[in-house]
Amino acid sequence: MATELHVFYFDGRSALAQPVAVRLDGGVLQVRHSDWALELPATQVRWPEQDRHGRRSAVLPNGALLQCNDSQAWDYWYASSGLHGSPVVRLQQNWGGVATAMAALLLLLGALYQWGLPAIARAVVPFTPYSIDQKLGLRIMKALDNGHLQPSELPWLQREGIREAFRKACAVQGVDTLPLWNVEFRKSRVGPNAFALPGGTIFITDDMVTLVGGDTRVLTAVFAHELGHLQHRHGIRMLAQVSALGVITNVLWGDFSWALTTVPAWLGQADYSRDVEREADAYALEFMRAAGIDPGVMATMFEKLRSLRQARARAGPQTDGAEKMATWLGIAFASHPADADRIAFFRSHSN
Ligand SMILES: [Zn+2]
Repeated sequence: MATELHVFYFDGRSALAQPVAVRLDGGVLQVRHSDWALELPATQVRWPEQDRHGRRSAVLPNGALLQCNDSQAWDYWYASSGLHGSPVVRLQQNWGGVATAMAALLLLLGALYQWGLPAIARAVVPFTPYSIDQKLGLRIMKALDNGHLQPSELPWLQREGIREAFRKACAVQGVDTLPLWNVEFRKSRVGPNAFALPGGTIFITDDMVTLVGGDTRVLTAVFAHELGHLQHRHGIRMLAQVSALGVITNVLWGDFSWALTTVPAWLGQADYSRDVEREADAYALEFMRAAGIDPGVMATMFEKLRSLRQARARAGPQTDGAEKMATWLGIAFASHPADADRIAFFRSHSN
């Protein structure tokens, strides 16, 4: 049971001292007057320093003041709440401390972002049940089909032929298990693109098929890259990274909503979405070798994508929700620049 202390409340507008009872329970400050009551997180209060004698005054976020003339009683009450020594509260006892905490938080987030989060997320993935991938994938799929993707206009026979070619390439992989997959064709305004949703659904746009003239070897290479994402469960890993950042931000600093809205965009363009692309490319390379497909076809395809993107850029920006969502997951095939490194990677392994 938390201790109750009787102090005075000044609302910050009038000099009227209102007698209130205060209580600190589970990090929440409760202030009770005979006519009203309020509750707020203890971290939002500027607590008085304790190493001084005399009156104790705590400043509430609304500018109101809690005042206690009996410093011993106050210090005892405060100490018994368990808040004493909490680094957050101690830092918040002066505004210089707040600035320091802010800088420290930014540094920590920067470090986590650079080194920690990918490692944390990677470690979390094996403990995440696969059913979560499937549920998440289904949700995204429904959202995409309700808004941004239309049924494919490719002939059924062509679609089956493309699936069959990939199935055959999978059959000669010489490994015990491949990730579950199924290929879905869709028409979309995003242009040539492909992406794998957690759980195994690989989307490919009609424009992607058209871009490579329906060449099943090239399409198999594209699917192999997506299979790499599925193998490493990159979708879930990205999600774990975003959530971890959100959780860490919340724990350290209460609700910092700006971080939650900024971070996903930040992740989409981040270096480590390039890292997962590299992993998927490495997987694709092995897959293509086993299937007897020249890795050079991937380089050619990236070059085609690049010139198409340059043409589209000249025509003005035209991204829509589907591409944004896929970019957010960081794994859309054509959402990141097909940089020279990537082209060189496949070119250098070309037969
Ligand atoms: Zn990718």
